[in-house]
Amino acid sequence: MKCPSCGCENEEDAEFCKECGRRFRGFFEALDDKINIASLFTGLIVSVLVLILSSLFLLAAGITVTEFTWIPLVILIFIIVGFAGGLVAGLGRSDTMDGFINGLFLGLSILIIFGFLFGLALLSLTFIVNAIKTIWGLSAATEAGNPEFPGLIVNGIIFVLGTLSSGAVGGSLGSCIKRLL
Ligand SMILES: [Zn+2]
Repeated sequence: MKCPSCGCENEEDAEFCKECGRRFRGFFEALDDKINIASLFTGLIVSVLVLILSSLFLLAAGITVTEFTWIPLVILIFIIVGFAGGLVAGLGRSDTMDGFINGLFLGLSILIIFGFLFGLALLSLTFIVNAIKTIWGLSAATEAGNPEFPGLIVNGIIFVLGTLSSGAVGGSLGSCIKRLL
């Protein structure tokens, strides 16, 4: 690779020019090399399957989701889902750092995709409930089932960090397993 600044010939995968020190690849380009779309996609499919299976298991076990238990349950399920998906995503990479980054991005994808769907479902549900109550002349449902704000923030942070870190741990472990195989 020829340096665009000084014209010095460098090795193809060099990050910096050995002559003038110019940086060839930015952080995101380097990251782009490490993220494997096929691994992420496979991991995402596994995540969806684990999510469906764990939901069915909870249903079959007859665990009643009351106001006090549903948040920890959702967090636990997402940690398991993130770990399983990250593990599969990491299996596509033999380098631990690559596995870590792929697992982390899988966790992020899960948060974005499932979080969006979950938020949308919650929002439309609240909207429909409020609309029905307004039509029937009842008070709006804003006060009903409104969890305490600080608790919601703490749970949200645990939810996000739990899903991200379980994805990263799963990804690292997946790459270790891939190396052993
Ligand atoms: Zn140069």
